[in-house]
Amino acid sequence: MEYITSFYTEALYMSYFRKKSIWVYHFNSGGCNGCDIEFVDALTPKYDVERLGVQLVSSPRHADVLVVTGPITTMAARALRNIYEQIPEPKKVIALGTCACTGGIFAGGYNVIGGADKVIPVDVKIPGCPAHPGVFLKALARLAGVERDGG
Ligand code: SF4
Repeated sequence: MEYITSFYTEALYMSYFRKKSIWVYHFNSGGCNGCDIEFVDALTPKYDVERLGVQLVSSPRHADVLVVTGPITTMAARALRNIYEQIPEPKKVIALGTCACTGGIFAGGYNVIGGADKVIPVDVKIPGCPAHPGVFLKALARLAGVERDGG
């Protein structure tokens, strides 16, 4: 698990073995939809992650990266684990937003386990309430090898 500040090294490493477009599967594990809206914003013409070859896919079996938004509720934990196990290796997990990182404002709730790393391995945490689509874009750009250090 790493925070965004140390993600760049990891992304550069990934670019060596990942010479194709990154396909992303998104799962909301119980959030308020604020981070989902920002995630969708990254797909719109303003940020346009598809120009990097990034695609949002409807099956985890087709994904390279799992993006989790929201705190992990007791109801969502099993589904999240099942989704993670369906994604083929090598795979990476991005916790998008403070809730997915730590449970956020929902932490301590009777039905909240915490952040995504309580259930599955998390490679990158992007905090923010909501997380900014520009930061998400930057993380994906690094993942795709489009940007390098200092970019
Ligand atoms: S981090 Fe903020 S915007 Fe994102 S799901 Fe949690 S409460 Fe909503």
